[in-house]
Amino acid sequence: MNTDGTDAVTGHRPLVAILSGAGISTDSGIPDYRGPAGVWRTDPDAEKLVTYSYYMSDPEIRRRSWRMRLEGPALRARPNAAHEAVVRLERSGVPVRVITQNVDGLHQMAGMPDRKVLELHGTARAVVCTGCHARSEMAKALDRVRAGVEDPACDRCGGILKSATVMFGEALDPMVLAEAVAIAKACEVFVAVGTSLQVQPAASLAEIAAEHGARLVIVNAEPTPYDRLADRVVREPIGRALPALLEELAEGRAEDWAEG
Ligand SMILES: [Zn+2]
Repeated sequence: MNTDGTDAVTGHRPLVAILSGAGISTDSGIPDYRGPAGVWRTDPDAEKLVTYSYYMSDPEIRRRSWRMRLEGPALRARPNAAHEAVVRLERSGVPVRVITQNVDGLHQMAGMPDRKVLELHGTARAVVCTGCHARSEMAKALDRVRAGVEDPACDRCGGILKSATVMFGEALDPMVLAEAVAIAKACEVFVAVGTSLQVQPAASLAEIAAEHGARLVIVNAEPTPYDRLADRVVREPIGRALPALLEELAEGRAEDWAEG
């Protein structure tokens, strides 16, 4: 192994897949809505705001949903040390793909190229028309809400607008999912960070990666069902642990992990 992380013989750099969940963004002030104390679990009414059937059938749910987005922390959130560490790894020349369960766009805001980030649950930074499927910026829709339009409709067709996230009751994009599976199969290191690995497809991606011979690294505060499959499990806070771990990867020291 060369000091720059390439293989001494082939110049090969291992493909690193990073699967990120809510835990990577809590340092940015975005609460874990689905976590044990998350609002989706403690307030069943709140869950309706992001459930497709309620959203589409009830204008009052939509008005509340827009207000929640206007007042919520997501728009003001900035990337944190963990997002920045992923960007540093990518810029070091290691091929990196991010698969994220998050809809906050913070990986890209930190500097990851769009094409290297797969958003399993879509993005809250865009809105989509449920009629004509036109996409536009969330910020522009929220400007209209701020100006008094309580349930802004599509400019083009008058259809119901919704956040470009995958709501409860909606299917994941099969293309995005297929690409995530392909990355899990191809990667040599799979780092699951800030995800409990208890919801699909995140859980199965970790398993697929391990089955296909990737080194599996889990960085999460709580135990996950896949810890037993992992080459390394890290329980320290993500903002400190992930930068240190990815620096080791950039230096090509992942070879030592399985023995640790
Ligand atoms: Zn439309």
